[in-house]
Parts: sequence; C-alpha cells; structure tokens
Amino acid sequence: MSKFTIAVHGGSGTILKSDMTPEQEQGHLDGLQAALDAGYGILERGGSSLEAVEAAIVILEDCIHFNAGRGAVFTKKGLQELDAAIMDGKNLQAGAVAGVRNIRNPVRLARAVMDTSNHVFLSGEGAEEFAQLQNIATEPDEYFFSQFRYDQWVSIRDSDDYALDHSKRNIEDLTVEADKKMGTVGAVACDGHGNLAASTSTGGMTNKQFGRIGDSPIIGIGTYANNATCAISCTGHGEPFIRSVAAYDVSCLMEYGGLTLHAAVAKVVYDKLVKIEGEGGMIAVDAAGNHALLFNTEGMYRGVRNNAGLNETAIYKV
Ligand code: ASP
Repeated sequence: MSKFTIAVHGGSGTILKSDMTPEQEQGHLDGLQAALDAGYGILERGGSSLEAVEAAIVILEDCIHFNAGRGAVFTKKGLQELDAAIMDGKNLQAGAVAGVRNIRNPVRLARAVMDTSNHVFLSGEGAEEFAQLQNIATEPDEYFFSQFRYDQWVSIRDSDDYALDHSKRNIEDLTVEADKKMGTVGAVACDGHGNLAASTSTGGMTNKQFGRIGDSPIIGIGTYANNATCAISCTGHGEPFIRSVAAYDVSCLMEYGGLTLHAAVAKVVYDKLVKIEGEGGMIAVDAAGNHALLFNTEGMYRGVRNNAGLNETAIYKV
C-alpha cells in the first residue's frame, strides 16, 4: 500500500490568538483531530478516500464550533441554509446540494445525490424532497441554534438592512467585515490505492442574502477531485473563489502547466486570489499522498494525518 493522507479544514479568516479563549482553541483542535482520526481509521483499514472524507465531514458538521451542519451561521432571514459537495477523483463522479434546511449532515445528502440520482447538483426544496425519499436525517430548527452564531448575526443584521438599499458590493463588504471568521469545513484524502476525494460543507456567510450560494458546493470551485491531479476543498469569501474557478484552476495548473501540488495551490492562494481580494485558503492532496494547506488570511483551522507518521492540527499562521 502506498502513502495515504487525509487533510481537513474548519474555515479560514481573521482568526487571532488574542480573540480566542483556551477552551475555544481546544474545542476547535479537538474537532479537527476527531475528524482526522475518523477519516484516517478508514484509510488505515484499506477504505476509500471517498468514505474517509465523508466520515471526517460528518464529525465536523456535528461539532458546534464549525460553520456547517449544527453550527451553521444565520442568513439574513435568521435561518440556516446549508451547502455541501463531495467528489470522487477516481471517476469524476460528484454530488452537491445548496440552500437546504434542517438536514443534519448535508454531506450525506450530497453523497446520495451522487450515488442515487441522475444529477450532480440539487438545491432548496427539490433537494429536501430528495432527502426525504432517501431517508436522510433531519433536525428541527432548534438543533441549529447556537448563541454565539446568533449574536454574530444580530450584530450585523441592521447594517445589512442598510446595505440592501445600496450596491451589491456594499452588501458583500459589510458581510465580510462583520464576520471575518469563515468556518466552513472540508476534507481531502488520498487512499492507499492512490484514489483521491474531496468534500466541503458550509452554512455560508453570516447574514447572507436568502438564496445565496457560495463556492463550497460548486464542483470545480470550492470542491474538486481528480486522480490525475489533486483533491481540493476551499474556504474563504466565496464570491472571489467563484470568479477564480479556484479548485479547478489548481488542477489545471498541474495538468496543463506541470506545476507541483504545492506550487499550484500557492499560485492560486497567494497570487490569483489575492489580486481579486479573495480572502481564504484551501487544503489539497495529490495521488502520491503529498499535501498542501495554504491560506492568505490570519488563520485557518486545519489538520493533516498520513501513514508516514505526520499527525498535526493548527490554527494560526506559522
Ligand atoms: N466559502 C464559504 C462561502 O462563501 C464560506 C467559508 O469558507 O466559510 O459560503
């Protein structure tokens, strides 16, 4: 069996040590480690990268600290709308959902779209109807309530009201300024057979417009996997990532430009995204089990584990 690796993220942004209590810090690190361990255990038993990323994402979606599943942020309407995607690099199969409500683990719904529908991307009510048919677990609104997310939203909902009377750019500015911690979750893995997979799940951005879809669930943008190149999961301000076709750009730089994984991720994160004010980062692996966890913000909740003995989690810039 060759080298196998799993990497996870729990979002990027203005994550400063001075703003965190030791309990918050530990809560995030524990969540990342639990996700890494769940995915790694599957890889160690000879399981697939696809199973590993799904298992890791479920752990992060269930963890209140991250902006996905249970800990998702509030929209402009004071609700949660969840986006998720999963992709199998072996055969380029993919499944994604956007704007779904009350789904406990949106990654499971994305997986069901991939495995049992003839489609790749379902949204809103159609996706929820599909979830019912697939017996995907749901939770009441209260499950998704967390006081700190609510307080975050309350602190900016009025400024957004104001911005709605102005340009779209103003709305984005205010939203980003008010919540610079983007807590989307992601996982990428390379299994012992050199198969790659990627998955991302998010509540999006605090106070986001009703119906807004970010980069996370869009195949080739926030999530992408292809055995010939890499598996990628992004986090950050979704709109610039969409305009950069971020994940697929990394793949193209490798496939057509001959760049290494690290060089391709660095080009997109430190250069191309920065030029259009695209704050965030991404985690990536290639089929040799190499990894890159790069970001252009103050911090990114992240972790990586492989069978060469590496097992680490981190939050801040080093
Ligand atoms: N990229 C996500 C979005 O724009 C947010 C995040 O990464 O936290 O929806």
